[in-house]
Amino acid sequence: MSDTYGLILAEGAADAASGETFESIDPSTGKVLAQVAKAGGEDVDRAVDSARAAFDDGPWPRMKGRERAAALLKVADLVKQNAGHLAELEARDAGHTIRMAKNADVGMVISTFRAVAEIAAREEDEEALPRGPGSTNYLRREPLGVCAAITPWNFPIQMAAWKIAPAIGAGNTVILKPASYTPLTSIELGRLCLEAGLPEGVVQVLPGPGAAAGESLVAHPGVDKVAFTGSTEVGRRIMQLASGTIKKCTLELGGKSPSIVLDDADLDFAVDGVLWGIFFHSGQVCTAGSRAFVQRSVYEDVVAELVKRAEDMQVGPAMDPASDTGPVVAQSQLDTVERYVEIGHQEGAKLLTGGERPAIEGGYFFRPTIFAGDNSMAIAQEEIFGPVLVVIPFDDDAEVVRLANDSIYGLGGAVWSGNTPRAVKVAEGLRTGTVWINDYHMINPKYPFGGYKQSGLGREHGRVGFDEYREIKHIHVDLNGQVRGRHPWWDISVPKRRDPDVPGPETAGSKPAG
Ligand code: NDP
Repeated sequence: MSDTYGLILAEGAADAASGETFESIDPSTGKVLAQVAKAGGEDVDRAVDSARAAFDDGPWPRMKGRERAAALLKVADLVKQNAGHLAELEARDAGHTIRMAKNADVGMVISTFRAVAEIAAREEDEEALPRGPGSTNYLRREPLGVCAAITPWNFPIQMAAWKIAPAIGAGNTVILKPASYTPLTSIELGRLCLEAGLPEGVVQVLPGPGAAAGESLVAHPGVDKVAFTGSTEVGRRIMQLASGTIKKCTLELGGKSPSIVLDDADLDFAVDGVLWGIFFHSGQVCTAGSRAFVQRSVYEDVVAELVKRAEDMQVGPAMDPASDTGPVVAQSQLDTVERYVEIGHQEGAKLLTGGERPAIEGGYFFRPTIFAGDNSMAIAQEEIFGPVLVVIPFDDDAEVVRLANDSIYGLGGAVWSGNTPRAVKVAEGLRTGTVWINDYHMINPKYPFGGYKQSGLGREHGRVGFDEYREIKHIHVDLNGQVRGRHPWWDISVPKRRDPDVPGPETAGSKPAG
């Protein structure tokens, strides 16, 4: 029998108002893993009311930064205590290999809460500005209010932490809507936030369909900000819905990131790096290095080695510690990957390896796939979000920068080279939010992360990401105003305030004073 998971509301776990549930499937087996309460509009209204009350009248936004930091550290400790359970749940619900779930996912959740606690504890919420003549000026950074966080299925608990931690660290309240394919660890994280003693209504979790719960949340007039990670297409819809009440938005959207191998790279290392860049989590990563640009003089050697090592990778069930990559998240995603392989064939790309499902019973598995192609092909321009790499040759650095930038996206990318000044020059030419030199997928919660172009708006992580959850208020104190009286540039005629008992000009027939 499958487990049952409720919504996380202010008072704790609850059924949906409609009583409806949906199934969460284990992508390694294709079998039902859990029944999950399905939030709808009524649940959204209820959650927003609680979040508003917690923000408008509750203690959380009024607490000192260091007090909020202590609460975040408590959440981090609870995640650590529950690490084994959370990793296994992520592996089963989202198809993360158990190795990855233990090492990358849970660790990143803990470090995200800790990094945000460090920023919150510094209490950098007031900043002096240069003095004006006779005035003092300063900035205050204040929380925005109620934040809606909408997360994708590829890194469920990490994405939940990336949004919950800075939102609440900055003094907001937050309602998280996780992706319907993978809601379980987000619900567990919400539960741990309650266990950590956060005040009622500060963190709530509403699993439910994007088109219903998601849209109601984004359009709700009681919500002040939307933080979204997912597809560029849904990102556009979020912006439209948020425009109704001019909500602040941060959007972390799709990518088609370049992995650039220069001819002076240590090729053995670079080949491993390119494979890690694309096949980590079966390519279902927004920063996946799905376009490998390889300098022509080393192209044949690099491609031969990429193919050989890709064929040695072990695809298998997420819970098997020997699996290098697990399944893709769902049948629909498997269909998308197969459709793009077909498109690759049709547009004349040369399939070098993969391109089909492996012989594994059940589950949504696909073999690591490599095409030789060119940058104008759909498989090199559109986000596939699966284990598909396109390898493209280039001649010189100027050409590779031009090709890499020929994309609607600009999220990440890497340069593999033994010549740091040369690699830095190429990196600086790329129109992307992050470039790794001789590394890939290194995301640190202390450094900002986000996209150029249609890869998004705003940044997550670090002080920059924290400030995406704060308003800036300028306070101007005129030190002499009371003494000096009106400035000469108050260029309007202001009637003197009248005593209500004294007859006014209309009744007395006199002119306005002043
Ligand atoms: P979506 O962008 O559709 O979904 C992301 C989140 O948004 C989910 O929680 C989803 O809910 C929700 N959502 C969907 N529609 C709406 C809406 N109209 N209003 C508010 N919220 C909504 O991504 P998918 O999960 O469907 O993946 C599709 C493609 O998006 C992938 O193939 C990949 O190309 C890309 N993608 C990119 C990611 C990235 O990190 N850049 C992450 C995930 C996907 P629900 O799950 O209920 O539909």
